[in-house]
Amino acid sequence: PADRYKILPQDMPAQDPVKRRSNVNEVATGYTETHARLEAMRCLQCKTAPCIKGCPVQIRIKDFIAAIADGDSKKALAIIKENSLLPAVCGRVCPQEVQCQQTCTVGLKFKDPTKAVSIGRLERFVADLDQNQDSVPSVAPDTGMKVAIIGSGPGGIVAATDTRRAGHDVTIFEAFHKTGGVMVYGIPEFRLPKAIVQKEIGILTKMGVKIVCNFIVGRIRTIEQLMKEDGFDAVYIGVGAGLPRFMGIESESLVGVYSANEYLTRANLMKA
Ligand code: SF4
Repeated sequence: PADRYKILPQDMPAQDPVKRRSNVNEVATGYTETHARLEAMRCLQCKTAPCIKGCPVQIRIKDFIAAIADGDSKKALAIIKENSLLPAVCGRVCPQEVQCQQTCTVGLKFKDPTKAVSIGRLERFVADLDQNQDSVPSVAPDTGMKVAIIGSGPGGIVAATDTRRAGHDVTIFEAFHKTGGVMVYGIPEFRLPKAIVQKEIGILTKMGVKIVCNFIVGRIRTIEQLMKEDGFDAVYIGVGAGLPRFMGIESESLVGVYSANEYLTRANLMKA
């Protein structure tokens, strides 16, 4: 461990601030292989791996980091995908500093959470290497069951992938004209490029998931109609938390005052 503690935390490369002023491209540009392997070597491979307990989906973190240190990024990605279907997204926008990295032994040793192993950056590194390849999850033989997924945000995508993997006939109904839910309307391009989200959704269509946009369940068809008349055996509702909670501040209903959700939707999805 003493030698590992001597390896400096690898900073995330980022766009030059002067160039960044005039574009909305992603700020962080991602680790190179050298960065990734050095960062992976900082991991102590703790027996108890407290990082895993800090991960909401219990990814085998120390094993995927060991694979990166060995130069086997494909194996690392396969390990992540056992538990998480959106590594390129989660590697970018998960709050690792209060989850897996908060409990990392290296950060605790230095009494500084910013010196923990950069698990999120490593996850993003292996996911981005796969961006030009087509690792489509395999699909079990047809079960004859139909599943409707309402909403194409992260919850809907994961539910659609899991149910399709199990061999069901899956259709996603999206109210907006674009898929991706909060990942598209709620997170700006410089933080999570829309192309990354569309790539993940492209994998769904390659798996045979059908996607219907501009379809408001409850207006166009009710859940009851979907199940009783359209032949769906199950419905998953993943519509997000779209309704804002106003604070009751004076003048908050004036023209030009927006809820965060409305503001982000206008800026990110409608370019308004
Ligand atoms: S807690 Fe930190 S050092 Fe230990 S296995 Fe997890 S990432 Fe590696």
